Amino acid sequence: MQYEPVIGLEIHAQLNTRTKIFCGCSTAFGAPPNTQVCPVCLGLPGALPVLNRQAVDYAVKAALAFGCDVQPLSIFARKNYFYPDLPKGYQISQYERPLATGGGLEIAGGTRVGLTRIHLEEDAGKSLHEGFADSDRRTYIDYNRSGVPLIEIVTEPDLRSAAEAAGFFAHLRDILVWLGVNDGNMEEGSLRCDANVSVRPTGQHAFGTKTEVKNLNSFRHVQKALEHEIERQIDLLKCGGRVVQETRLWDSSSGRTHSMRTKEEAHDYRYFPEPDLPPLVVEAARIEAVRATMPELPEARRRRFVAAYGLPEYDAGVLTQSAALADYFERAAAETGNPKAVSNWVMGELLRTLNERGTPVEAVPLSPRALAGLVRLVDQGTISSSIAKEVFAKMYDSGRSAEEIVAAEGLAQIGDESALAAIAKEVIAAHADAVAQYRAGKQATFGFLVGQMMKRSGGKANPKLANQILKRVLDR
Ligand code: ADP
Ligand code: ZN
Ligand code: MG
Repeated sequence: MQYEPVIGLEIHAQLNTRTKIFCGCSTAFGAPPNTQVCPVCLGLPGALPVLNRQAVDYAVKAALAFGCDVQPLSIFARKNYFYPDLPKGYQISQYERPLATGGGLEIAGGTRVGLTRIHLEEDAGKSLHEGFADSDRRTYIDYNRSGVPLIEIVTEPDLRSAAEAAGFFAHLRDILVWLGVNDGNMEEGSLRCDANVSVRPTGQHAFGTKTEVKNLNSFRHVQKALEHEIERQIDLLKCGGRVVQETRLWDSSSGRTHSMRTKEEAHDYRYFPEPDLPPLVVEAARIEAVRATMPELPEARRRRFVAAYGLPEYDAGVLTQSAALADYFERAAAETGNPKAVSNWVMGELLRTLNERGTPVEAVPLSPRALAGLVRLVDQGTISSSIAKEVFAKMYDSGRSAEEIVAAEGLAQIGDESALAAIAKEVIAAHADAVAQYRAGKQATFGFLVGQMMKRSGGKANPKLANQILKRVLDR
């Protein structure tokens, strides 16, 4: 019997606001513990929440990008549970009436993954179990994260493999970062994912019993944890067992999941409407105002790069991996009129250098205008493409322009016929054997002789002219 996995994700994304969702405390990452707290986010008695407008606008922006229906009215609810990192004893979230419903996202291969909902909520504090002298006896809590704004994005059970789920998550992250609503920083916990997974005999319509795997903070972990969990469930069914509905934790060091709590131990959150906050009303005009700030989305931009610049699909895909890279390309292309050449440089030398140095695209020291200058020198035949690579490296490190470097270092291509003829004569004199072989009909030797011309000229001979002139001199 063959089995098919069914997967749905619940993704928590921190919104890029400067302050928390219900108070004015900073959301900056990395501050000393408990220095960004106040009575509201510490849940002190009598403190009242005030909703951060920017958090709502960012959530609306994400919802619009995924084609969700933004609800004119949504309701905050208390999700009650007891845990030390939750100072109020409840989390303010949304439950029956979320901010947005529906929508979806297309992934590689054209599958559309539906979204169930997007709702707003606050983050909890962080328990620290390590790093203190008495860590074996005590847990410390940092409330800096308490009250940081999140959106939870819940997908329909539309994903069918671990790789597809990881790919979807990565795609979703790229869009959130592109929109500027999330910083995409998974090590800092800005984006987290819980994965729900079940398996069913291939061909069966009804879903199997699912488990929820928590604690997945990288794409790799999503994939590995799901692969493991799918295999575990299939093995169980094949041996005549049953999958138990439960929450499981992924342990990346052992590469396994283990049970955290079963359905019987599941929380009863006793949701009820938050009495301290009025219903959230999002008027049509506000939705339109947010829509007006939407950047062109990656898919649209990719299609435009193909149509407007005549780029291959592949190039367009690479260049639209981030808004910063796409902007860089467009600025350089605008100055050269040779978009394909610019694309080659950006995808090749530029990305390679950035990767090698671990520099983000946002911080590239070489301006698009400077790169355009280099492309123009190649297009005009002033320098050869191999010399251009040298010039690129020098520009990158020195900030000097391509023109400056070529002039200062005498790197301009030798296109002068008499100079090339002189070099050809030298090469012919130095390689009498090769010349004899060529004259005897061994064509391949010609390439060797051109290579010698390039070498003698320090790579500066114009290759096309070198070919012509060598032939002329030989055939004389
Ligand atoms: P719960 O009641 O446990 O919260 P929901 O129906 O609200 O379950 O769904 C939570 C997540 O689990 C969603 O992402 C949904 O797509 C996914 N999901 C629901 N049922 C299944 C299933 N049988 N197999 C895999 N994923 C599922
Ligand atoms: Zn606060
Ligand atoms: Mg649910």
